[in-house]
Amino acid sequence: MRVLIFGREGKVGAVLMQALAAAGHDVRGVEAGEPLDLEGIDAAVDFTTPTAVLGNATATLAAGVPCVIGTTGLGDDDLAQLDRQARETTTQCFVAANFALGAVLMMRFAAEASRSFPRAEIIELHADTKLDAPSGTAKATAAGMGGDVTIHSVRLPGLIAHQEVILGGLGETLTIRHDTTSREAFVPGVLLALDRVRGLPHGLTVGLDALL
Ligand code: NAP
Repeated sequence: MRVLIFGREGKVGAVLMQALAAAGHDVRGVEAGEPLDLEGIDAAVDFTTPTAVLGNATATLAAGVPCVIGTTGLGDDDLAQLDRQARETTTQCFVAANFALGAVLMMRFAAEASRSFPRAEIIELHADTKLDAPSGTAKATAAGMGGDVTIHSVRLPGLIAHQEVILGGLGETLTIRHDTTSREAFVPGVLLALDRVRGLPHGLTVGLDALL
């Protein structure tokens, strides 16, 4: 596929530029302020910033090009707008707060465990360059667990993306932890999304779980 990556020089974007090309895709990248050329592009991938992503997606969808979004910090109104735009242009928009397989499993296990424990809290830890807090993964995990789950956000240099879900009950706790030790962790999920995005229903699809 011919893939355009928004955020070519970002921490995730740079990893994807190499990995998607190595997987056989024809990859082009665009950075902030550069002219956008969607001619011949089959799908776009966005790992930029919460303020840039909607503008990028609007332009992409308007050109009838499906988009795969990893950028976090989108609210419910933003997702509704993406859904509307993708439907109106009869194309597809896929958004996942976390493209790492282990993180998807962590969310599943946490949802299951929450049915047996009365209380739970989430600690999410990310690089200090991450702009949004709490993380999209933490919010999605909490939503999947239902009830009132407090989220604690840590931002420090040296971290990539980590999350602990601690469940507490009578005389015991259960901790479910996921660590991203390299940004390569996001590559298989992005490749899967690219493989599947054009076959999804028109409109918005959320979460890697929907593709597994
Ligand atoms: P980053 O290193 O700050 O990279 C963002 C890149 O996007 C920068 O190179 C930035 O350029 C560029 N950019 C900003 N506005 C742009 C625009 N309008 N068009 C094209 N490029 C633009 O951040 P990161 O760590 O790679 O993370 C990027 C996003 O992905 C964040 O929202 C993060 O939370 C999210 N993320 C999601 C997952 C997931 O699995 N879903 C995993 C990791 C990260 P400048 O520096 O010139 O502004």
